[in-house]
Amino acid sequence: MRIDKLLANVGFGSRKEVKKILRAGAVKANGKIVTDGKIHVDPNHDEITVYGETVKYKEFIYLMMNKPAGVISATEDVYDQTVTDLLDIDDAIYKPFPVGRLDKDTVGLLLLTNDGQLAHQLLSPKKYVPKTYYAVVRGTVTKTDQEQFSEGVELDDGYVTKPAKLKILRSGEIQSEIELTITEGKYHQVKRMFEAVGKKVVYLKRLSMGPIQLDKDLLEGEYRELTDEEITLLK
Ligand code: URA
Repeated sequence: MRIDKLLANVGFGSRKEVKKILRAGAVKANGKIVTDGKIHVDPNHDEITVYGETVKYKEFIYLMMNKPAGVISATEDVYDQTVTDLLDIDDAIYKPFPVGRLDKDTVGLLLLTNDGQLAHQLLSPKKYVPKTYYAVVRGTVTKTDQEQFSEGVELDDGYVTKPAKLKILRSGEIQSEIELTITEGKYHQVKRMFEAVGKKVVYLKRLSMGPIQLDKDLLEGEYRELTDEEITLLK
């Protein structure tokens, strides 16, 4: 990787600012001054210092995004914009991918990382990682639905869902608002669970995944890195 890219990526400013630091002779690779930003280094093996301080290169990146509607939870798509298209991250260094999928019209918490092991843990059906959704549902959501969801409902393909916690926030005649916590991740699961009790989800937003809550300050389409505390909670 080019040394100017690496330095810009770990927070030494824009390429222009990095150039200045290089020209000042402040950067060393394995003890030798480097002034040319085009020089290639291996961030995992070469020791890079700036003004004598070792540059800490992170192997993994962990992001939370408030996914907007209309965007695909993938790294590439022929027709649509993907969640990784929304990232302003140098993909020559980090190639984060979404941890699981939200439907195109679903909004809310989406984790992205290049840490395959962590992604695998979060998605493993054996780990029962709880995911909580807020939804607006057409129809009156009742205590009976709550009981059915806590026992498991049969989806259109015959699969019976694991116990899920349904909280009714508002039960109206035309539409209701709910929070649902599930520990699985079947295709369109929340929508299909409501279909199983004769109702339609008209708005769906993920609020949390395991210990990570969607940051209320993130507008749809915005993202931020997880804090060290959040990363520790996840692992
Ligand atoms: N369940 C759904 O139906 N859709 C999602 O995007 C996530 C969970």
